[in-house]
Amino acid sequence: MVPVRLRGHHFLCILTYRGHGYTPAFVENMSEIVEQIEQGRPLTLIEGPDDICNGLTPECREICYHDCSKPSTSEMDLLASDAVKPLLPLHSGDPFVLDRNHVDMMRKQFADGSIRRACEQCSWNEFCTSIALEGFSGVKLFAPA
Ligand code: SF4
Repeated sequence: MVPVRLRGHHFLCILTYRGHGYTPAFVENMSEIVEQIEQGRPLTLIEGPDDICNGLTPECREICYHDCSKPSTSEMDLLASDAVKPLLPLHSGDPFVLDRNHVDMMRKQFADGSIRRACEQCSWNEFCTSIALEGFSGVKLFAPA
């Protein structure tokens, strides 16, 4: 199975994803990816634009905070991947299946702020903070019981 390619900060974004995004096309693409991840499609960490960014139309890129070419976005990726590496089997570089345990561990540390340095530069920061405060209710990926 071809793995989902995810850039660093999107390992955080999938934790709070409730079906909101920049455009309907973006949301449709991200929802499909998140569903496939929950169904066991493997993931791989990459640098630069990934399979979630692919949902952006050119018009969307113009209004999108996460302009793929911005150095600040690469910095967010680095901060996020460094933060989640201790929690995920990323060291070998091989694709892996993200399961509920991984997600629960990441959400715990997302909620206490310890893996969220990347979020400080993001325009969705307050929104994602509120989702964490609400116990991640309504999220698409491995929704809490
Ligand atoms: S604040 Fe931004 S980078 Fe952090 S999880 Fe939310 S959308 Fe992703």
